[in-house]
Amino acid sequence: MQNPFVVAKFGGTSVANLNAICQCAEIIKSSPSVRVVVVSAQSGVTNLLVKLAHHVKSVHEISGIVDDIKNILTPIVEAIDCTYLHSDIKQRIDDLVFLAQMSVRLNTKELSDEILSFGERISAQLVAAIFRQNKINAQYFNVQTVMKTNSNFSQAKPNLDEIKAQVTTHMLPLLLADQVLICEGFIGMDAKGKTTTLGRGGSDYSAALLAQALQAKSVKIWTDVAGIYEADPRIIPQARAIESLSFNEAAELATFGAKVLHPATLWPAISSNIDVFVGSTFSPKMGGTWITAKGNSLKEPPQIRAIAERKNQLLMTLKSFDMFHAQGFLAKVFSILAKHNISVDLVTTSEVSIALTLDHIGSQSVGESLLTEALLDELQSIGNLEISVEHNLSLIAVVGNRLHQHKGISAKLFAALESYNVRLFSHGASGHNICLLVAAEDAKGVMMDIYTHLFSESTKERVR
Ligand code: ADP
Ligand code: ASP
Ligand code: MG
Repeated sequence: MQNPFVVAKFGGTSVANLNAICQCAEIIKSSPSVRVVVVSAQSGVTNLLVKLAHHVKSVHEISGIVDDIKNILTPIVEAIDCTYLHSDIKQRIDDLVFLAQMSVRLNTKELSDEILSFGERISAQLVAAIFRQNKINAQYFNVQTVMKTNSNFSQAKPNLDEIKAQVTTHMLPLLLADQVLICEGFIGMDAKGKTTTLGRGGSDYSAALLAQALQAKSVKIWTDVAGIYEADPRIIPQARAIESLSFNEAAELATFGAKVLHPATLWPAISSNIDVFVGSTFSPKMGGTWITAKGNSLKEPPQIRAIAERKNQLLMTLKSFDMFHAQGFLAKVFSILAKHNISVDLVTTSEVSIALTLDHIGSQSVGESLLTEALLDELQSIGNLEISVEHNLSLIAVVGNRLHQHKGISAKLFAALESYNVRLFSHGASGHNICLLVAAEDAKGVMMDIYTHLFSESTKERVR
């Protein structure tokens, strides 16, 4: 049975400064069913923390970066009338400096996650205090009490059973006492009590996991755009917001690079049938996008819904003459990739070669190249293999439903691509996407031309 609660999440720009946090407070005041609020770090803070954890070569560089963090936080702290909180934040900044000094000598993922967690920890305290000043019955709640994960630092995997048990014990009683709980997104805790993080952009995922554990009615992701658009509105300003999407369509979009949702956000929602809303903190009246199971795309007519870009792609081509009329080559390649925790997005094969795309930088909290010497050596050990790697590519995905039954769509797409070199094309694995790989420098032009051919008002009727 679902609880009547709603979980809300405010992203980095939504809590970037005092004004923005007060807008969040207005949203919460007008939505009494929201009882858990998940917050990100103030916009820009996590990038500075990544610098502190990984790019500082000497202790002298630390104070400059910490000053940049203070410049973001101080105006918010000063607006809070609570001396205890002022000294608490000061103590946290001192602790951060200490950990940053350690990281100059000791560069571990464990220490990095501890450093990265400061952004969300401070943010949740600040937002809770400002909400209270805005007459909301808000209380800070340490999410690490409930967000239990494995010890895969930088990209930890949540332990749902444990999260559910802890939420029932520690969170539900407070909710039943009419509290609005403000907690950190992005961070968790492993079985030994060490801080973990869920990967960049992971606060959306935190909100969905808490909603699942609470059996909440819905999750509301408040961000800086009024919903999910047909394409990133920063790239295609004429793109329109989409009123409703099915879980599948939204999951494809998030997987293929629509940054507005972390790719894992839809998993808890799908498995527990929790509706997800995406809207703008700054224009809540504009409405937004509802993502529900109801948009059952199998029953709808074929439709193109959106385009997304997944940046930083590599194309690896493996050529082996042993593959000619032989069995088991693909199995060997994929078992090596699996051993290195690499998930492949697109694959094409010919008689003697396979080409596959990989993320250049993984989705961990601190991006690292997935293409390591160890991986290449192990692939070479298959024997008699030529490996080539092409860099600086982008994967463009056209997302919709029943696209494999959509007569003429490939023709329209190819017409839009007349002036580009498409390095790889994939259509048919699922009815939900058509993917093409292009040079990163062409990606914006490709998106605009696809939009003009398939989405703009004058062409929309022809493609539906
Ligand atoms: P937050 O900090 O709130 O999590 P993000 O920056 O992670 O916000 O995500 C919001 C951004 O996602 C938008 O500003 C927009 O540029 C980008 N974006 C990419 N694709 C889309 C899309 N299809 N619809 C809306 N926004 C998109
Ligand atoms: N603050 C983290 C990041 O910038 C998590 C989030 O904002 O979702 O990646
Ligand atoms: Mg985000």
